[in-house]
Amino acid sequence: MESIKISSYGKINLALDVINKRNDGYHNISTVMQEISLKDDLTIIDNENKKLVITSNNEEMPLDERNLVYKVWEELKKISGLDKGAHVHIYKRIPVAAGLAGGSSNAAAMLKGLNSLWKLDYPVEKLEEIGKTIGADIPFCLRGGTLLATGIGDQFKPIPSFQDVYVLLVNPNIPMDTKYVYGKLDLRDRKDFNMDLILQEMGKRDILGVAQNLYNLLEVIVTKEVEEIEEIKGELTKNKALGSLMSGSGTTVFGLFKNETDLNFSYEKMKEKYPNYRIIKTKTR
Ligand code: ATP
Repeated sequence: MESIKISSYGKINLALDVINKRNDGYHNISTVMQEISLKDDLTIIDNENKKLVITSNNEEMPLDERNLVYKVWEELKKISGLDKGAHVHIYKRIPVAAGLAGGSSNAAAMLKGLNSLWKLDYPVEKLEEIGKTIGADIPFCLRGGTLLATGIGDQFKPIPSFQDVYVLLVNPNIPMDTKYVYGKLDLRDRKDFNMDLILQEMGKRDILGVAQNLYNLLEVIVTKEVEEIEEIKGELTKNKALGSLMSGSGTTVFGLFKNETDLNFSYEKMKEKYPNYRIIKTKTR
């Protein structure tokens, strides 16, 4: 039986501004998306009985038709006309509902995996079109790297790479639903944010400059409900982070560091103070 193993990387948003609400209910956004080396692993194996079986080491995420990899399987069957089953094992390291695009990334990996296993040979543009109908972050997850995304997050502009920067993720174990956060959004909270500034600092590869220009409009909403966010940000900055921000719709907060020594220093402090949080060392990719 044929099988394939695919890595499924998470992301952080170095900047996230919401421009307006569209008639279809989605929002137009402008965001700097950055792939990180924290990843899940998907192993996909052909399955004779034409069903999709999902297994995982993680107990928080649904393993039925609510899982995004299930939606990908259904959609690819419909489009390709193939009536094939599969067994996918998702080894999860990316926290669920944490603003790190874990689900979207798994969906992107499933698209790539089935495209190869079923020998469909669809170009990445077609996979992006399919992915977009399942989740707004899936096109980015198919590309990875560092990109400026606009529209609903599916129009991309290349920007300077921000690879190999040390990042600490601190997740207070409070899941946050993306739709709920957007539902609470009041566009009057928008600040005078200038995206060009952070892009310029990225171009100079000035990590401190980038850290000083991090911005996430959604942080305002989530901070009102989850007081841990402000506390984590304060602790990170106190412990050698050059800057910190909540990623996506939360609740993971990330800190950026000058080097590995500072990252390790902060990791040890945070680990001690917050033994019940998920604290993960990673790098941008
Ligand atoms: P984003 O940053 O794109 O908003 P997120 O990291 O906040 O995403 P996810 O981890 O993608 O959130 O999960 C969001 C929801 O999707 C959860 O409620 C989860 O139950 C569901 N879900 C479906 N499939 C998956 C999957 N393969 N991995 C994780 N969550 C999944």
